[in-house]
Amino acid sequence: MPGLRNNNMSNIEEKREALAQDLQQFLYYCDQAEEMITGKEVTPSPVMDFSSLVDEILPLPLDKDAPEGASMKQLVRMVQECTRCPLCETRTHTVFGEGALPSRLLVIGESPGADEDATGRAFVGKAGQYLDTWLTPLGLSRETNVYLSNIIKCRPPENRTPHVNEISSCLPFVRRQIRLVKPELILLLGGVASKALLDTDKGVGELRGRFYRYEGVPVLVTYHPAGVLRNMEELKRPVWEDLKKVAAFLNLTLPGRSR
Ligand code: SF4
Repeated sequence: MPGLRNNNMSNIEEKREALAQDLQQFLYYCDQAEEMITGKEVTPSPVMDFSSLVDEILPLPLDKDAPEGASMKQLVRMVQECTRCPLCETRTHTVFGEGALPSRLLVIGESPGADEDATGRAFVGKAGQYLDTWLTPLGLSRETNVYLSNIIKCRPPENRTPHVNEISSCLPFVRRQIRLVKPELILLLGGVASKALLDTDKGVGELRGRFYRYEGVPVLVTYHPAGVLRNMEELKRPVWEDLKKVAAFLNLTLPGRSR
């Protein structure tokens, strides 16, 4: 009954709007109370973005076919319950991604490996630990300013390359995740993530070294840490060049250099 659903939706949207206004009003009353108690003029509180709090108190109804409107919490649940592609049958855990919100840098890799599948956490295996050695010297970490994710949320058996239909099934989640993370910059790791998000057939060697845009967000491409671990001699230097671009864009100090 789509009509009924639309009615319910506009009803809840009105309530959410009213709640956000009430919260702002509450701040105004707090300012007034402070003024009365202290007898001093108080600078009025700014207009706040209460969307996360409103999502917590009055979440939009979950529509399994429409991640576009989902809150972060809803999106996590949608991924956990997802059966859109055959990878749901072989996964141990979905691996949604994790990190700071909002984030300065969103790193998107290919797919979860064995360690990630076992724990449900992104980039915790050998490649993830190696990725940390790229980020830490720049003052970047998932605890403070980076969000780590993959283009596919479930591990392909034996770590095979994800199939095109699996990627296209998972992309709506990734697209919504990007909007919710609101990064200043996206760093794509490896050919699979780069081809999927930039909708291109070009490989990393051709793509890296320049900025792209995804829905207005600047994007850089570099090699996947797992690939670099297999070919340090050739790939370590280009990755460092790419990281220098990340640092310059985010105005970060490179190790051994003062600003
Ligand atoms: S890989 Fe993505 S689309 Fe496929 S089952 Fe997992 S969450 Fe769903």
